[in-house]
Amino acid sequence: MTQREQILREMGLAPLWQVREGANRKVSPPNSVADTSTIPSFISTTITSNLIPTAIATKHSPLHTVGDEVVNPNTKAERNERDQEPRDIQDTQRAQRAQRIAAMGWDELKQSVQECRACNLCEQRKQAVFGVGDVEADWLFVGEGPGAEEDELGEPFVGQAGKLLDGMLAAINLKRGRKVYIANAVKCHPPGNRNPEPDEIAACLPYLERQVALLLPKLIVTLGKPASETLIGSEIKVGESRGQLFAFRGIPLIVTYHPAHLLRTLTHKEKAWEDLCFARTTMLDSEISNLKAETKEIKTK
Ligand code: URA
Ligand code: SF4
Repeated sequence: MTQREQILREMGLAPLWQVREGANRKVSPPNSVADTSTIPSFISTTITSNLIPTAIATKHSPLHTVGDEVVNPNTKAERNERDQEPRDIQDTQRAQRAQRIAAMGWDELKQSVQECRACNLCEQRKQAVFGVGDVEADWLFVGEGPGAEEDELGEPFVGQAGKLLDGMLAAINLKRGRKVYIANAVKCHPPGNRNPEPDEIAACLPYLERQVALLLPKLIVTLGKPASETLIGSEIKVGESRGQLFAFRGIPLIVTYHPAHLLRTLTHKEKAWEDLCFARTTMLDSEISNLKAETKEIKTK
């Protein structure tokens, strides 16, 4: 077994993340060309700074604006009726709903999601999928929306993509539910696995925002384009945003590929691995600077 294979195994990347014949031997900073001849230095030295991309941009995102969704209507007819209401009334109702959600505790929030009918996705869902994990989580992973299996079982990422996500977590020594929380941009399954519409994402955003506010994670990792755009608040390309440090409400945010995309595009798995290592480095850096700040505080007391 090569050194790389051994370390992959130790990192929990094998056998899920198999070393392929002729696979790139070097894990390079995102967007640079990988050197196929050398064993990456971080593999022999755990995590090193060569994983930190050269350009780390911090983008503080303004609150994603709420789109055109109607507020808590119960039926399609009611929703159509609300659509006819003047825009300022809709805006006020949206703001009031967001305010109510922003004041909720975990139990009330969960119940509100389960009963929610604020967008069209309520029509065909079997159940809303709230999110799962440790409410004291350091890490928050955000996906796009529940698939059919999640709709059936009521838990995020339980299908094939979920299995890969668990493997990705294991690769950086994390485990679902242990300092980790998993949520989605929309809580209800979009029929036929279509992408959620902007108005659906906007209608659901107050829930995710409240989850973030209650969790106060140290790091957010967004999986794929819709989740990333939701929290960054603007259009992005995953390939171009990887390796950058964004922020949501002052919390560092890192973008990577969605596991479902990785199941289809195996060549991106290694890039996702780089992103995870970048995430882990970012988490360690933030823990080190917190420790330094605490030590300074003790010294000055
Ligand atoms: N894909 C997602 O984005 N979320 C899930 O919960 C499952 C699949
Ligand atoms: Fe409500 Fe979100 Fe489900 Fe839409 S997707 S009905 S906003 S919980």
